Amino acid sequence: MIEVSGLSKRYGAVQALRDVSFKVEPGQIVGFLGANGAGKTTTMDIMCGCIGADSGSAKIAGYDIMEQPLEAKRRLGYLPDVAPLHSEMRVADYVTFAARLHKVPSTRVQQQVTETLERLSLGDVRNRLVGNLSKGYRQRVAFAQAIVHNPEVLVLDEPTEGLDPNQILHVRELIRSLAGQHTIILSSHILSEVQNTCDRIVIIHNGEIVQQGSVAELAGQLQAVRTYRLRVAQNVDQLIESLSTMDHVLSPRLVNSDSSELEFGFSKEANEQLLDDVARMVVNGGYGLRELAAQTRSLEDVFFHITH
Ligand code: ATP
Repeated sequence: MIEVSGLSKRYGAVQALRDVSFKVEPGQIVGFLGANGAGKTTTMDIMCGCIGADSGSAKIAGYDIMEQPLEAKRRLGYLPDVAPLHSEMRVADYVTFAARLHKVPSTRVQQQVTETLERLSLGDVRNRLVGNLSKGYRQRVAFAQAIVHNPEVLVLDEPTEGLDPNQILHVRELIRSLAGQHTIILSSHILSEVQNTCDRIVIIHNGEIVQQGSVAELAGQLQAVRTYRLRVAQNVDQLIESLSTMDHVLSPRLVNSDSSELEFGFSKEANEQLLDDVARMVVNGGYGLRELAAQTRSLEDVFFHITH
């Protein structure tokens, strides 16, 4: 339903995307995960035809966004990171305007606007000015413009960014309620955000896709990544440097800048002997071993190890 292949994009000296490819099957919800500046918005802007790519292509429901933009956009709803709201318009007027922009046939505009407002619980504020609504309601209006034409594909760029915890829950429920009727890709820099909502996760880092798979597959990889916490009495910075030089020890780093506790991982290839080697180095190096424990693992660990 969504097919992105070989996208590259450069902004002056910044190579924002490098050969980005992934697919989203019909009916799936995919989480597009990456830190700030990883390239999520650039990818989504290209997929939705807002900007061009230097190379590569994006297809929406089989239509190339650059070569057949009208066909592709008819099947596409986009919620950009900065929502395209007109604060001086009333809610129903704005959603009607969006329906017309999306070429909903005039005989169906009113019905689709009413249905969309109901679906998003916006009926009570239909005559309010968009600019006077709370942030959570404004986000729902932004959703309304993205779904009023009932698109097959929904692209949501950080849909919960800037909302309070209560509003985040509402938006999550909303996204889940849209699943099944739409194929959805949503971006986030928060793993737990996509972990609970999505079927698959695509991870982007420095403009490249570094991992993709189902939540279960990523959790499976996690079993292979062992992480440990280590507390010592002194010279923690020097210990981090020494750990960095050991084969199969991954990403040693301070847990807090003011603590003497650090965290590190073992690569898949590491054997049990390595833990003995680490313990021996701490004791023989005079660091003062206080604690060494295996970590409870979460998908955050996978993300951390992939992107560090
Ligand atoms: P965020 O979560 O902060 O929105 P992102 O993952 O969406 O980040 P992008 O906005 O796609 O990342 O940015 C990718 C890279 O391209 C960053 O280094 C960014 O500074 C750069 N970039 C994005 N837009 C432009 C632009 N118009 N001109 C120059 N550089 C840009």
